[in-house]
Amino acid sequence: MIGREKLHEGKAKIVYSTDDPEVYLQDFKDSATAFDGKKKGTIQQKGRMNNAISARLFTLLEKAGVPTHYLQTVSETGMLIRRLDMFQVEFVVRNIAAGSLCKRIGYLEGTPLKKAPVVEYYYKDDGLGDPLLCQSHLEELAVVDPEDLAETTRLSRLVNSVLKEFFAARGVTLVDFKLEFGKDATGAVRLGDEISPDTCRFWDIATGKKLDKDRFRRDMGDVEDAYEEILRRVSSEPGTVV
Ligand code: UDP
Repeated sequence: MIGREKLHEGKAKIVYSTDDPEVYLQDFKDSATAFDGKKKGTIQQKGRMNNAISARLFTLLEKAGVPTHYLQTVSETGMLIRRLDMFQVEFVVRNIAAGSLCKRIGYLEGTPLKKAPVVEYYYKDDGLGDPLLCQSHLEELAVVDPEDLAETTRLSRLVNSVLKEFFAARGVTLVDFKLEFGKDATGAVRLGDEISPDTCRFWDIATGKKLDKDRFRRDMGDVEDAYEEILRRVSSEPGTVV
């Protein structure tokens, strides 16, 4: 059943086929990259931690009415997922200014966004460096039809409201994050990929400490501890984190 053939190897995950053509195995790796792959490294135990964090968050989102590709956890670093035809778009949702948004619109990092959540669309094209797309570009490229764009945008906002509240109850500010969506065999839109400190910015509410991949990107140290801390928070009951 498990891990037949390697279908795709990305920067942080490997996807394998299984006996069921509609079910894949997603295996999380310890390797990390940043700045379009120019910076490479290893974050010890990242595969295990991102598998557990993503499983917890996908389960939470399913219960809140967000269809996801998650089926079940099958190993320390692996989960079974539904096969999706992925949209060639990355959806970034932002509550607070950080990263590329600061460079784009001149805000200082940490500035709350008046129009939060801001939802952005990026073209998944390595050759072009994953550029930001405006509405007209999306229409021109036809990478997501208007109906699916409305649904993915609605789901992106729902994911934000569910995760923002979940993390706030565990002492973490959800600054921004990246989502990827696709269509399952029935044509329904589902959330795919992962939700982890690789793809989100998390700041500790009490101390402001960054608990995500920015520690790796900016050589801040304590990278493994930050991922472990997020795993501890997502595994905890609301209001119990000290
Ligand atoms: N992000 C991601 N993959 C990407 C680009 C961004 O997971 O290829 C996430 C990133 O971790 C952050 C959010 O999306 O949580 C917004 O990233 P931003 O556009 O600020 O880019 P960055 O500063 O990370 O280059």
